[in-house]
Amino acid sequence: MGSERILVVEDEKDIRELIVYHLEREGYEVLQANNGLEALSLMKEKSPDLMLLDLMLPGMDGIEVCRAIKQDPLFRDTCIIMVTAKEEESDQVLGLGLGADDYVTKPFRPRTLMARVEAVLRRGKLRKEQRQTEGLLKHGPLQIDNEAHEVLAGGHRVLLTATEFNLLSFLTMHSGRVFSRGQLLSRVIKDALVTERNIDVHIRSIRKKLGEHRDLIQTVRGVGYKMVRCE
Ligand code: CA
Repeated sequence: MGSERILVVEDEKDIRELIVYHLEREGYEVLQANNGLEALSLMKEKSPDLMLLDLMLPGMDGIEVCRAIKQDPLFRDTCIIMVTAKEEESDQVLGLGLGADDYVTKPFRPRTLMARVEAVLRRGKLRKEQRQTEGLLKHGPLQIDNEAHEVLAGGHRVLLTATEFNLLSFLTMHSGRVFSRGQLLSRVIKDALVTERNIDVHIRSIRKKLGEHRDLIQTVRGVGYKMVRCE
């Protein structure tokens, strides 16, 4: 239960209103669309947590809508429950491997639908949290978000180039270990045109951008670079 935002995509007004009524009674924020294009534009505008998606829609059908959403990395945290008119349709949709989270067959009992909605939202939330902790690296004053490609040092945003980001992230993941310039080239840069001398340039630039936290990256004379260990 709560303030999650749900988009109901259904062209039959009576069914749509029934679903909306029950969702709102559970305390959800509800958006409505009666065709696929409208659904996609509401997705972009309001990024709902869950979409209840009717299969048979005029114009763009539910399968196409589902496919469009699941292909867009922006919407990867949106859950989808497909609503179909017949059991056989559910099986067919399932067979397509569209990545929908669940299926409900019409006619459904409102209580059943609400239970499915709650379960799917709960799973979606867990999945999102898991992904966020996996993608987030914390190291002393550094916070490296590998999903968003963002770095905070002492709470301040550090703007790095893609190469600088990869170098910092790699050294941080292996903190305490020294890497030679050659190792950094082959394991992080993977670009034949970049020379060992370029590594020094990138490291110098990262340090400059880290400001007061510059000493996190240490030069080990005659060997290479390492990220200091932090407790
Ligand atoms: Ca329909």
